[in-house]
Amino acid sequence: MAFLEIYYRLKIDRCQSFLRRDIKDNVRIRAFDLRICQRRTSCPRCYSFCNRLFMKGDTLSKKSLKSSISTEEQKEKKENTKQSSLLGSVDKVVDVVVIGCGPAGLALARALSERNLQVVCIDPNINKPWKNNYGVWLDRMESLQLTDCLSPIWSNTRIHFDNNRTRLLPFAYGKVDRNRMKKRLMNICKENGVVFWEDSVEDIIQEQSYYSCRTSQQEKFTCRLVVDATGHFNSFVKFDTPHDPGFQVAYGIDVEVSRHPFPIDEMLLMDFRDSHMEDSLEAKTQSSMFPTFLYAMPMSSTRVFLEETSLISKPPVTFEHLKERLLKRLRFLQIEVKNIFEEEFCLIPMGGSMPSLSQNILGFGGSAGMVHPATGYMFSRVMEMAPVLAKSIENSLLHDEPLSKNKTISIWNELWSHERILQRDFYQFGGEYLSKIPLNDMRDFFWAFFMLSDKEWKDFLDFNLIGSLQRLLFGLHLFSKTHPALRLSLMKEALQNGKLKLLKSVIF
Ligand SMILES: Cc1cc2nc3c(=O)[nH]c(=O)nc-3n(C[C@H](O)[C@H](O)[C@H](O)COP(=O)(O)OP(=O)(O)OC[C@H]3O[C@@H](n4cnc5c(N)ncnc54)[C@H](O)[C@@H]3O)c2cc1C
Repeated sequence: MAFLEIYYRLKIDRCQSFLRRDIKDNVRIRAFDLRICQRRTSCPRCYSFCNRLFMKGDTLSKKSLKSSISTEEQKEKKENTKQSSLLGSVDKVVDVVVIGCGPAGLALARALSERNLQVVCIDPNINKPWKNNYGVWLDRMESLQLTDCLSPIWSNTRIHFDNNRTRLLPFAYGKVDRNRMKKRLMNICKENGVVFWEDSVEDIIQEQSYYSCRTSQQEKFTCRLVVDATGHFNSFVKFDTPHDPGFQVAYGIDVEVSRHPFPIDEMLLMDFRDSHMEDSLEAKTQSSMFPTFLYAMPMSSTRVFLEETSLISKPPVTFEHLKERLLKRLRFLQIEVKNIFEEEFCLIPMGGSMPSLSQNILGFGGSAGMVHPATGYMFSRVMEMAPVLAKSIENSLLHDEPLSKNKTISIWNELWSHERILQRDFYQFGGEYLSKIPLNDMRDFFWAFFMLSDKEWKDFLDFNLIGSLQRLLFGLHLFSKTHPALRLSLMKEALQNGKLKLLKSVIF
């Protein structure tokens, strides 16, 4: 056991140097390091960004993935092209250019256009569906009046902590119908006059007090404010200190199976059971040192989305390793895969440093570090924050004049108010703690977490621990629910790493 631990530590250290360089070089998943790629190590954290290449020869990927664009999407493409051709008329300075049409970019473009601001959205993938499978709590989408863009919806959510402990959470959960949601947001934008341009932005040039976004096809769009909504591996927003986040990594498949054991009215949020990893000492050790869980969305009795997830790891677990674990789990559960509709490779930077709040370019979504540092969720948050930010942008752009540096800073401060930063620090402490503990501690931690009242744990997940007193009470209550050994490790983490930041987050 100790030998294995040392062996993996050595491997991790070696891998980290590659990883750091990749991150510094502004990680785009497309970038990869062939040296790691060819090694095919068994170390779950010997990370490379080329796991898609690995997958090609493997059994699962031999089946073709369905990527055909539906007739509806083709119709939409035509409409968008028509819209783009109107662009000749946008040769004036517009209010805002939004770079990126992911959930964050479109939510913000919609909110800005509803305030009658002139908006141009630029993205090379405007006409393609969003890639990710998003899951959200129903209550948050209800308050946004977006529940009709969820399908399916599960009335309950299940967690298996181990073979003896399980909990059914009384909260409904939904899968975002990504085509419908994207279409909905784009249609509202178009009705409000937003112009979509299909291209990628290469440069942002400051010209006197305006900004010009230059695209790869040498088009130029001038505006008063640029919003970078290009996602987690962003291009334009700068960070205060080197960005060194942990990562949530998940390998998922949307599959047709002959049968599966998951009740179809329950969404399986986390299944930490690992009996399938008991066939060898190595597998068992890996499972306990690098915890992963199953996330399952049963769509029908024969169709299910399954994802093996590493909640947060630093350096990140590899896709290859997660895939191996998922296949092992499926064999154990006797789930026979008949058809694979889609594979998902999920990599989410969690926490890390904050974007600089004094820069002229505004970030929103992944590019602005808005993901929950302990859970990896962000979808509902950008939907909720878009109107708040749009209001602040409108106020700053009220007078028909160039935007002063102070005004941009005040918009950043709205997004990242003092309270929100403190809340992020508190969550980040939780995320970092979770990245360090073994499987059994993680099980006990979540058991204690979900023993809190539903309101308490839900507030934590929903970015609702806004006041310091709320955070303090939450922390103390959670602490009181954990068993002594976990308390000790929490205290150690607080003293060694949480330090002043953690203290401030529960005092100020
Ligand atoms: C696989 C996966 C699954 C996830 N699942 C969930 C979930 O279930 N629930 C949840 O709440 N969160 C989830 N997240 C986290 C988060 O909600 C997503 O990452 C979300 O997509 C981030 O939204 P975004 O708009 O900031 O960035 P993105 O969705 O990454 O969109 C960025 C857009 O910018 C465009 N772009 C990039 N560079 C340029 C450029 N130079 N010029 C123009 N356009 C550019 C891209 O084409 C893209 O369309 C998931 C993340 C991943 C990766």
